[in-house]
Amino acid sequence: MSEEFSLRFWGVRGSTPTPGTGTLRYGGETSCLEIRAGNARMLVDCGSGARNLGMELCQKKQSADMDILFTHTHLDHICGLPFFWPAFDPDSQINAWAGHFEEPELKLADVVNRIMSPPVFPLAAKSLKALSFCDYQVGSELPVCGDATVRTMRLNHPGGACGYRIEFQGKVICIITDHEHGNVEIDAKLPGFVEGADIMIYDAMYTDEEYETYIGWGHSTWQKAVELAREAEVKTPVLFHHDPRRVDDELDEIGTAAADVYPGTLVAKEGLILKP
Ligand SMILES: [Zn+2]
Ligand SMILES: [Zn+2]
Repeated sequence: MSEEFSLRFWGVRGSTPTPGTGTLRYGGETSCLEIRAGNARMLVDCGSGARNLGMELCQKKQSADMDILFTHTHLDHICGLPFFWPAFDPDSQINAWAGHFEEPELKLADVVNRIMSPPVFPLAAKSLKALSFCDYQVGSELPVCGDATVRTMRLNHPGGACGYRIEFQGKVICIITDHEHGNVEIDAKLPGFVEGADIMIYDAMYTDEEYETYIGWGHSTWQKAVELAREAEVKTPVLFHHDPRRVDDELDEIGTAAADVYPGTLVAKEGLILKP
């Protein structure tokens, strides 16, 4: 039995994939994190970055049994699913979880059916043979495979989003995206939810100065990330969900400024592997 607990970034960008010379170092793929906890594998989101992971799993002929924990179903977080090869494998078992819907009649399967049906996409959602759709009530603990504990919390985002707290062997990884600070009730709960985390991935799409223009768009700032990290005694905050306009040099500057305020702060980068 493996004791490994690790996190790998396959996509760190928000909103839309952004290939190009300005994003070579941090990467242009959208939200996708791979977490290994012992022998279990979890993906948080299936943005465009998931395609590369899928190809790697198929090439290495590794088991593709896993849980996919969706933070929510905005396109940048699900657009990789129709290109995620393991999901089409009838011999694999992938449980896909979503709990963010504010309308009780909405189901994850309906959303995937919408993006995978003609004339939007050539293949129907039913061709994702490995997938089981698991809708849950946000706030509940998820019975994922393996020995990790997965807790969930409602975040402040248009249409809803779920934060995750994943614990394994006494270590903690939290994922707080997509999220906008400023909701009194959620702001009051969040420090307790991420308390003592070894790693906290946080929606740091904007700077405080930029945020003034984007109030209500559902995202937060790197300054709020470090503020929360300090309050909740998080070891390593990781700035995530980079604005598609943000080029590598700007992310370098933000990373330096954030680490000056809160030493240990990192900027999420495609290919980066962290072990809590
Ligand atoms: Zn997003
Ligand atoms: Zn979103």
